[in-house]
Amino acid sequence: MLIILFIILLLVIIVLLKPNQKQTDKETALVGTNILNEDFSPQTLPSGNENRYDIDLKMDSDGKFQVESTVEIKNTSEDTWKELVFYFIPNIFTKESSEQLGNTLDTSATLQVHDILVEGKTSGFTLTNDTITIPLDNPIQPGDNVAVDFSYQFTLPVGGLRFTKTKDNYHLAQFFPMLATFRDHKWNKEEYRFRGETYHTGFSDFNVSYDIPESYTFVSTSEDEIYPSKRTGTFLINDVKEIFIAILKDPRVVEKQVGDVNIRVFGFEEKDDLYKEISGIASDSLQYFQEVLGPYPFTQLDIVLDGLGMEYPGIVTAGSIYGKSVRDDAVKNMVVHEIAHQWFYGVINNDPYNEAWLDEGFTTFAEELFHFSQSDDEIPYDKMLERIELIKDSSLPVNLPLDQYENNSHFYGKASTMLWLLFKDRGGLEEAEKFLKTYYDFYKYKEVNTEEFVRFARSYFNLEDDSELSTWLEINN
Ligand SMILES: [Zn+2]
Repeated sequence: MLIILFIILLLVIIVLLKPNQKQTDKETALVGTNILNEDFSPQTLPSGNENRYDIDLKMDSDGKFQVESTVEIKNTSEDTWKELVFYFIPNIFTKESSEQLGNTLDTSATLQVHDILVEGKTSGFTLTNDTITIPLDNPIQPGDNVAVDFSYQFTLPVGGLRFTKTKDNYHLAQFFPMLATFRDHKWNKEEYRFRGETYHTGFSDFNVSYDIPESYTFVSTSEDEIYPSKRTGTFLINDVKEIFIAILKDPRVVEKQVGDVNIRVFGFEEKDDLYKEISGIASDSLQYFQEVLGPYPFTQLDIVLDGLGMEYPGIVTAGSIYGKSVRDDAVKNMVVHEIAHQWFYGVINNDPYNEAWLDEGFTTFAEELFHFSQSDDEIPYDKMLERIELIKDSSLPVNLPLDQYENNSHFYGKASTMLWLLFKDRGGLEEAEKFLKTYYDFYKYKEVNTEEFVRFARSYFNLEDDSELSTWLEINN
């Protein structure tokens, strides 16, 4: 009897102890993980407008393009607009602008604007460098709409930046007038620069039709293209910052289906093995980012291995950095970087002129997470720190506008390193992945700025003060 009682007592003690054990596990698990306050709600920076672009593009066999572009704009700001301000980047590469800006080109672009209509009526406008300003006879009240038609023709420059002809290929980046964001009671439009991305747009909807000469193939932001493309076609795409079109001559193509996503690699040299390797790393990194961050937003991802390493929605280019071609290994890393941008730029928006670190820093961080996830190497925190100390003016914060830096190391490498350091004593890679996932879930299809990042980080890490952030971010709130 006593033995039975003893056993029962023992069982009761074990049962009573068990929840305590769980409690301890839970507390341990909480160290350094997501301890976001339940009442935290993410904020978005409004873009001040909502736009739908209808673009009709025709290319003739001499490489002349004719574009009719209509944009339906809704004023979602709180201000009445007396003018509209657009980026029009093709004008940067004309002979006149190039001479003025001291930019040397192998061949200049040509550009003729035939007509700009506001609500169907011919309108006056000014075009200076990359800015089109259209004065409005009838101001646009908050909540009201306005339609603007542009009719123009152009040829591409050779040796341009993003908007350029390379070999026999035509790269149409930012080839249409793109409405600027409107905030703090004014149009948010900065001067064009040849380093960094100086254009910033909100998420918009696009309806595009094209007509190109025989012997070329059309590759773009569109999700359901086939190779070779038809000579004429249309596509619709919603919630993208911009669209990109490449018109390619005789590419070598590697296609690969990864889950729902069709990955296509377009190369132009006899390097089929390299193109297969690139297709492989693109597929590995795409799968990793989908797992760690969230779904890739399209059903097709195009990789054009010609020209500057650059991200566009659903399509990236890789091969060189500002005109200098890079080694094959570096091209692979570049492809991973541009793919990571599909989340940080493509889905989480930020102003790349004023706060480039929010896309370049996060993209570099995600790219490095992918690389470390593939190896057993320890995260070399100290080496990372040593590297950033070598940057000129290394103490500068990472969140200044582009014109405040002599080079871009601050908002790429330094920003990424400082993000890594947040996880040095908080669980490393695995915790960094959880952090990025939470950040992504909160901010997808929103625009962030440093202030909002700081608000998120304070809550996520339950920071008592800003000492872990203020050494590398300029914090104004
Ligand atoms: Zn980048």
